[in-house]
Order: sequence, then C-alpha cells, then structure tokens
Amino acid sequence: MTTAPKDPGAYGAMARTWLQQNLTGNLRTDRVHETPATLDELKAFEAAMHRAGLAGITWPKAYGGHGLTLREHLEANREIGLAPAPNAVNSIGKELAGPIIQAVGTEEQKLEYLPKILTMENVWCQGFSEPGAGSDLAALRTRADRTSDGWVVNGQKIWTSGASKSQRCLLLARTGVKEDRHKGLVLFAVPMDTPGIDTREIRSIEGHRHFCEVFFNDVVVDEANMLGAPDEGWSAATRVLSIERASNRMYRSWRFESELDHLITACRSDARTYAILQGYARDLAEVRIEIELLKGHVETLVEALLAGEEIGPSGSLPKLYWSEAHQKFARIAAEIVARFPTDAGQPLLDAKARMEAIYLASRAETIYAGTTEIQLDIIAKRILNLKKAA
Ligand SMILES: Cc1cc2nc3c(=O)[nH]c(=O)nc-3n(C[C@H](O)[C@H](O)[C@H](O)COP(=O)(O)OP(=O)(O)OC[C@H]3O[C@@H](n4cnc5c(N)ncnc54)[C@H](O)[C@@H]3O)c2cc1C
Repeated sequence: MTTAPKDPGAYGAMARTWLQQNLTGNLRTDRVHETPATLDELKAFEAAMHRAGLAGITWPKAYGGHGLTLREHLEANREIGLAPAPNAVNSIGKELAGPIIQAVGTEEQKLEYLPKILTMENVWCQGFSEPGAGSDLAALRTRADRTSDGWVVNGQKIWTSGASKSQRCLLLARTGVKEDRHKGLVLFAVPMDTPGIDTREIRSIEGHRHFCEVFFNDVVVDEANMLGAPDEGWSAATRVLSIERASNRMYRSWRFESELDHLITACRSDARTYAILQGYARDLAEVRIEIELLKGHVETLVEALLAGEEIGPSGSLPKLYWSEAHQKFARIAAEIVARFPTDAGQPLLDAKARMEAIYLASRAETIYAGTTEIQLDIIAKRILNLKKAA
C-alpha cells in the first residue's frame, strides 16, 4: 500500500524532499522517544519549515510569506500530513490570527505582526471561549472599556490552547452589555506579557499542560492593538471560526491516512497482530473510504477558494465529517493495539504509543472549533434551510 501521491507536483516534491531530510530524531511522531522534542526544538523546526517554503505559502512576500497560491499550500500540506511531523506550535498564529490580520488589520499591524508569526518570534493563542460562552460565543462577558489610556479589559477566558507559551492573544471582548449578543464585540491582538494577565495551565487527558485559563484584571490594551473596528468583532470572529473549521490544518486528511497506514504496516510485521488486524478488515475499509472522501473534499474546497468563493457555513461540513471519522478510527485503532501481545517488537510498540496518543487527543476533536451538535445545527439551518421542529 502506498500513501504518497504518485505525482506530488513540483512544490509537493520539494516539500517531500525537505521533510525526508529534516524531519528526524525526536521530531518524528511515529517512534517512541526517550526524550521528547522540547518546545524550543519544535519552534526551531517550524521556523525552518517556513524558511524552506512550507509555511506562510500564500502570504504576501511583504509580510514574510512566499506569495504563492492555495495550490502550492495544498501540495505542501499533503506531504506534511503524510510525514510523521509534530503538530504545529503556532497553528493559531499561522492559520487563524494571520488570515484575520490580513483581512481586517491596518498596514502597520500587518507589517508588525505577520512576519513574527512565521519566524516563530510570536506564538499566538485564541481567547474566545469563556465559562458560559463556548458554543454560544455571543454570550461572552469579557469587557473592554475605552479610556484615555487605551482599552481596559476585564474578564476570564478558558480552554485557551497554548496560552502559557504564547506572546500574543487574539482576544474577543465586548464593549457593551451581555444582552447585546453579537453587537459591540471587538477583536484585539493582546501582548501576553501585559500586566494584569494571569495564565493558569490545565492538565488534559493526555497529560499535557497545553490548555489554560486566562484572567484579565484591568489589562490596558493600546488602541494600536485593536483589529478592525469596535463593532467588527463578531463578523471577524465568525470568519476566524469558518477558517478554523474548513481550511486550517489542511494536512489533516493525509495525516489521518498516514496513521491508518502506520497501524496496518506495524500489524503486518507479526503474524499474531496480522491476525488481529484481519478481524477489523471491514471497519478499516470503511475508514479508508472516509479518508478518500475527506481528501476529495479538501481538494474541492481549494478549487472553490481559488475560484474566489467564500467558505461561510460550508466550513462546518469538513469539520463535522473529519472529526467524527477520525474519532471512530481512533477508537478502532486503540482497540487493536490493546490486543497486541506483551512481547511485541519495536515497530508494534511505536504504533501502539502513537495510536494511544491519537485516541486520547481524538476525544476533543468533536468539541473544539465548534461541537458536532453545533455543526449539525449550522448545516441544518444555514445550508439545508430546515425549519426548527414545532
Ligand atoms: C482541545 C480543545 C482546544 C480548545 N482550544 C480553544 C482555544 O484555543 N481558544 C478558545 O477560545 N477555545 C478553545 N476551545 C474551546 C471550544 O471552542 C469549546 O469547548 C467549544 O466551543 C464548546 O463549548 P463549551 O466547552 O463551553 O461547551 P458547551 O457550549 O457548554 O456545550 C456542552 C454540550 O452542549 C451541546 N450544545 C450546546 N449548545 C447546543 C445547541 N444549541 N444545540 C445542541 N447542542 C448544544 C454541545 O454540543 C456540547 O455537547 C478548545 C476546546 C478543546 C476541547
């Protein structure tokens, strides 16, 4: 079984060669490592990816990008997915903050923020969710009051991925009262070392301390750090969310494919595990079909975006489909590796460790970037135009 596209395109071929040469040692996610890669090593790898042309591909050259199209972005992301690369530390910077700054930021803001995202000087986090405002984001309470010193922010965010490692926060706050709902929301680029910001890590099911609660106590944010107009926050935020659902981590379907292939190859290394695998042939065939559909969906989406179409509510389709399919695969994979013999060889131990990590991480996939129920609601109301049951 082969995973790599036979013709990756010129850009994809360049990406493949670079990854083969540079994705080495403890950066690889298909092996068990005694010493996992440190944050500095991961950041250095990501900065090197940018220099090699594997990040900031579509961003204008004036802002540190490579000035190419989504076609090259897709070619590179296929290869990034197929390689056992670590998850990006700065995906919020590159895939959410970056595009929104390009859409609503001033020229000064673009020049100030964008290049530092790609060089990894500035890692970004996303301060949207709050206790009581997750699915219903318009219920958020964090306030921003305009004073003669600038904006003063008070409130609390939660589930802020990577906040304790970030230099900037893409913060959504309100200027009016909670009852204003979507009106009066404002977006900021807040430096995380501003006095009054208190970041507390939360331990996740995987044992990581990636999640955070972030408290804002009289945090003064300069007018220059406001992104867009004070009333543009909601439209900018929904744009961020549709990008998050549809086109960020474009490598996901190919990463998914590489995980399935890793499991199958490892199981084939031992007659006993090959026999276990055969018992799951039908389930894994379904997974393979789902992966092919997902890849096709991404490729169609790229063509639509290249033709100038907006993502809008259709971003909910790939989010829903990918998270449900991947969670199902992770459950099957965890079941298979749990049955590995205790004297399994190294290829099986590597696959077992990877599948277990995938299983734990997959539990959150139907929650973040909008839950499954919320995606179904958007699809029903805004794509299918269905009426609420009486
Ligand atoms: C791994 C991970 C990373 C995250 N990273 C970030 C981040 O970096 N920044 C950030 O701002 N947020 C982040 N989040 C938060 C995430 O966006 C929210 O968890 C998500 O939007 C759900 O909100 P909630 O947790 O408040 O659950 P709730 O909104 O309280 O939902 C609870 C349950 O009720 C259901 N439900 C809610 N409303 C409806 C409805 N109208 N109809 C039907 N069912 C409904 C939901 O589907 C869910 O099952 C992250 C979450 C996770 C798990």
